[in-house]
Amino acid sequence: KFLTIEGTEGVGKSTNVAFILDFLKQQGIDVISTREPGGTPLAEDIRSLLLCQRDELVDENAELLMMFAARAQNIAQVIKPALLAGKWVLCDRFTDATYAYQGGGRGLSFSTIEQLEALVQEELRPDLTVLLDIDVNIGLARARARGELDRFEQEHIDFFERVRSAYLSRAKNSSRIAVVNAEQALEAVQADIAHVLERLL
Ligand code: C5P
Repeated sequence: KFLTIEGTEGVGKSTNVAFILDFLKQQGIDVISTREPGGTPLAEDIRSLLLCQRDELVDENAELLMMFAARAQNIAQVIKPALLAGKWVLCDRFTDATYAYQGGGRGLSFSTIEQLEALVQEELRPDLTVLLDIDVNIGLARARARGELDRFEQEHIDFFERVRSAYLSRAKNSSRIAVVNAEQALEAVQADIAHVLERLL
């Protein structure tokens, strides 16, 4: 099975990735995790290029293509081999993030993203996606308190509102995407995630 986890800044993805891995391992499932952009040495290099501070404005199409370049590499080197070996894969962000950030956030066309998705992924789609949802201001405050905001801090709050709306509207149109309220206490968030995972067990 192929699982992904998504959400806007400060939503608690890292903590919950660790929780999902533990939960699945306790069920005796052989699971690996990876992240996007990243997951292989080349894809991690692309991530560093995307996240580093520079004076040059990053062209939106360049950003989009770099996201998919990193994804192609992660699929070829990590995700597909693991799935073929019968393992489960948990990916921290995947193509829903591209629809949300590059599509919703930056305003690139969803049909262009769909074409790249078809090219790079062929038939590969997640079996289940956990979308952690949080009020944008609360998430940004949490991320800032942890010193986590990078170049994306330069974005206006409206950018993150558009990202969140794009995620939520994708969730509305897809039974694959389960929305979890990440404003709750961590124990309640994790109880909800465990409930969602039970669908696959
Ligand atoms: O998942 P993580 O928070 O580590 O992502 C690193 C940064 O990349 C975040 O600031 C996120 O907003 C950004 N990102 C993006 N477009 C994507 C995936 C991530 O802008 N498709």
